[in-house]
Amino acid sequence: MRTPLIAGNWKMNNTIPEAVVLAQDICNNFERDWASEVDVLVCPPALDIKPVKTVFEFDRVKVQVGAQNVYWEESGAFTGELSCGMLASAGCSAVIVGHSERRNLFGETNEDVNRKAKAVLAARMTPIVCVGESLFVREAGEAVEYVCSQVEAALAGIDEVEARSCVIAYEPVWAIGTGRTATPEQAEEICAAIRGVLARRYGSDTAEAVRILYGGSVNIGNIELLMAQPDIDGGLVGGASLDARGFLSLVRAC
Ligand code: 13P
Repeated sequence: MRTPLIAGNWKMNNTIPEAVVLAQDICNNFERDWASEVDVLVCPPALDIKPVKTVFEFDRVKVQVGAQNVYWEESGAFTGELSCGMLASAGCSAVIVGHSERRNLFGETNEDVNRKAKAVLAARMTPIVCVGESLFVREAGEAVEYVCSQVEAALAGIDEVEARSCVIAYEPVWAIGTGRTATPEQAEEICAAIRGVLARRYGSDTAEAVRILYGGSVNIGNIELLMAQPDIDGGLVGGASLDARGFLSLVRAC
């Protein structure tokens, strides 16, 4: 059985004081018995990671903290970048890699995503590998093929044991921040195809162990139907993760 995972991607929102208030709000509304049934993760901006982690540790609330991006080198002349070691030392247990905003606005390639995923694994953290097609690709009828090739590229050179530590997030670009969610059937079709890629690469046991999330306008009105799909194991939540009660209502719905 795969434990559901609800992950909040705060994107470029919240100064340090704002992040601390949001983290405290999450603590105040977190019900302890959720911790055994669902994994909860928030991915704040890098500067907020340590203060947010400190709040969760102080309150002993089982919410993990992750990063939204990383660079694959360990250290050196890479102005503006952060390494896996730095993120781990700030308390991260997971890193989002290959988010469509990184791919489309900052030119990240499939090869970059693969390097980042490998670096995150080497640092014993969980890469949350994002994949997803544009509206253009969907309307051309090529969504399954496109997303599967992104998954293949992201996992190149990653072995079966490492693959079990990965999370894949299917986020159709046309559904991100648009209020236009994929239907549960559309999301399931792609998530099942992603599991098929995992099964071909690593065998069915590993494919069954890997968590696949859906992201793109997840909210309290659609989470239950999405979670009812056999190959959807949780959500990667943007806008709806910026309000503690709203975010935790998604956790409750799992
Ligand atoms: P929204 O939930 O705001 O659509 O964002 C989804 C997303 O990009 C999460 O990574």
